[in-house]
Amino acid sequence: MKKTFVKAIFPGSFDPITNGHLDVVHRGMKLFDELIIAVGRSPIKNPLFTPEERVEMIAELVTDMPRVSVESFDGLTVKYAAKKGADVILRGLRSLTDVQYEFQLAMTNRAVAGIETVFVMTSEQYGFTSSTLIREVASLGGDVSKLIPKTIYNRVQQRLKKLNREE
Ligand code: ADP
Repeated sequence: MKKTFVKAIFPGSFDPITNGHLDVVHRGMKLFDELIIAVGRSPIKNPLFTPEERVEMIAELVTDMPRVSVESFDGLTVKYAAKKGADVILRGLRSLTDVQYEFQLAMTNRAVAGIETVFVMTSEQYGFTSSTLIREVASLGGDVSKLIPKTIYNRVQQRLKKLNREE
């Protein structure tokens, strides 16, 4: 039976959140009634921000979006989705390379938990934006200001200065 109220989670590392991620959030809001941006706590390579910091930074960006919330989670995405009563996992696609990995992930999640994944394709202008590259380029002094929101850009610059001072 078709559900009348559809709740989705948008899981990811979001270190940091990019304009590409926000594009996915905006597209997701046209499809779903409620969306939780779910920051995974599993460790990533060379993180810039703690999961708590990422949650706080994202929360500032979505204050005017009442149907969107943000929290962090531990462990399996599908277990978290079940705990939140989510109907759908939302993921973004940038390229055919994403498709291969995302396809596998979505199939696995459906096999283990029966949950569907819905993909939205990002706006072409963000097709090459990735948090990993932003971390790398910014740490080497590259200008990433067009790829992330202004507030996030400021936080990235502050963090890099702090890290450089500590070195
Ligand atoms: P993960 O480590 O789980 O891939 P990310 O934070 O890198 O976490 O990405 C979360 C989701 O957002 C993934 O579905 C990814 O494909 C998607 N995504 C990342 N960058 C973009 C972008 N520029 N445009 C659209 N989707 C994106």
